[in-house]
Amino acid sequence: MNIRKSIRWRIQSWHAMLLLAMCAGFGVTAYRLEKTNALHRADQDLEIRLSALTSALSQGGGRPDDRRPPPDDLPPEEEPRDGPPQPPGFGSSAVTGLFDSGEAEPFYYQVWTRRGTLLDRSSTAPDDIPLPGGSKDLEKSASVRNGFRELHLFTPPGECLLVGRATAGMERELRDLAWKLTGIGMAVLAFGLAVGWWIATRALQPVSQISEAATRIAAGNLKERIRTSETESELGQLGSLLNNTFQRLDTAFEEQARFTSDAAHELRTPVSIILAQSQLSLGKERGAAEYRETIEISQRAAKRMHALIESLLQLSVIDASGTERNLQSADLRDITAEQITLMGTLAAEKNMALVSDLNPAACTVNPEQIGQIVVNLLTNAVKFSPPGSEIKISTRIGNSSAVLTVSDNGPGIPDHHLPHLFERFYRVDASRNRATGGAGLGLAICKRIAEAHGGNLTVESHEGKGSSFTLTIPHKES
Ligand code: ADP
Repeated sequence: MNIRKSIRWRIQSWHAMLLLAMCAGFGVTAYRLEKTNALHRADQDLEIRLSALTSALSQGGGRPDDRRPPPDDLPPEEEPRDGPPQPPGFGSSAVTGLFDSGEAEPFYYQVWTRRGTLLDRSSTAPDDIPLPGGSKDLEKSASVRNGFRELHLFTPPGECLLVGRATAGMERELRDLAWKLTGIGMAVLAFGLAVGWWIATRALQPVSQISEAATRIAAGNLKERIRTSETESELGQLGSLLNNTFQRLDTAFEEQARFTSDAAHELRTPVSIILAQSQLSLGKERGAAEYRETIEISQRAAKRMHALIESLLQLSVIDASGTERNLQSADLRDITAEQITLMGTLAAEKNMALVSDLNPAACTVNPEQIGQIVVNLLTNAVKFSPPGSEIKISTRIGNSSAVLTVSDNGPGIPDHHLPHLFERFYRVDASRNRATGGAGLGLAICKRIAEAHGGNLTVESHEGKGSSFTLTIPHKES
């Protein structure tokens, strides 16, 4: 199987992508938040120290002549006179305590005069700190320079105060955090993928079962069924659906096999009769009367075969095409009336009365096929009812259907035969019916025609009291 087309792999890759996106999103957000927080904390520490420096400067840190007069009336800058200046404010313990040189990454400061000459710097300050450029507004401004975070401020007179600290420690912590987040992300990803694989495997297990069962069924074991323990789930329902289909296929195959064997059996009898008769005749010279009798017997057998073959052909045509062709608007009343006229002679021969109550019943049908149903039902009623009895025929509209009922007061049909009455080659009394030429296909054909029209054919019968056959065809409003 192509792995890229495997459902499990597809689910797994979507799952992996989703998990990866979620882990990456979470990790990057957490990292950025922590970085912002760390910078914020660092800036707060720097601000505390910058404020301390600012107040030290205002309390006397730096030389007074450096700070006054304002920049416009500035006298020429004097170079420091006796070595580096030592402003008293900056040396106070309040300030020096904040720039403890004992720390691994100590804070530092550097102060410039308004002319840009160095006024003071902490011992912890790195060399070559450039005087911050840019606008000399009075806002504090933070910057990152060569691995140092620095905050500087220009005082109103123009001095520049700068505090800073190396960011190596913070960066190390952030790097550690990044590694930790990556590790956690990988662990979550691995766990998620393992769980996803397990879920996908479990969810698709019924599919494997279904395909294994289907393979066995395709190999010829039509009795095999898919186990559908979880009938509520979608796959359970699919399994049930396939089982129903297999059941129907199995039944259809069985019916087909039975049908073929029954048809062969039915044809064998007349063929045997013809063969036996011809052998008998050819055995020795016979008189004209004997030859005539042989030919008559063979003709009856041939007629029976012909009727049987006609019925079989008719069934196969209905099975193959239903009533797709020749559907017309018709009235069940007219079709029935025509057949009653044709059957009148047959009934009269047995001294039977055909009592009809025909009402309009419009429908869209193949009139020839529906006519055949009427003929078959009437023929059976006449055939099985005793001479002198009455056959009632009615047509009407009922429950949105065109309805035809043929009732007789013949021998009736025993209950246990009723469920099988419309099966192909089914006869209530096989020996008696074979003698009358029936092969047990008449009612099967009628039922099949009715179903092909979207209708039905049913029977109600009580032994000794007669039978009543009802045909229903969807009614068409005219
Ligand atoms: P066939 O073509 O052999 O007559 P059918 O399919 O028409 O077969 O009928 C099947 C069986 O139903 C017959 O064997 C017969 O015994 C029984 N049958 C049909 N119609 C009637 C009826 N009106 N009264 C009693 N039995 C009937």
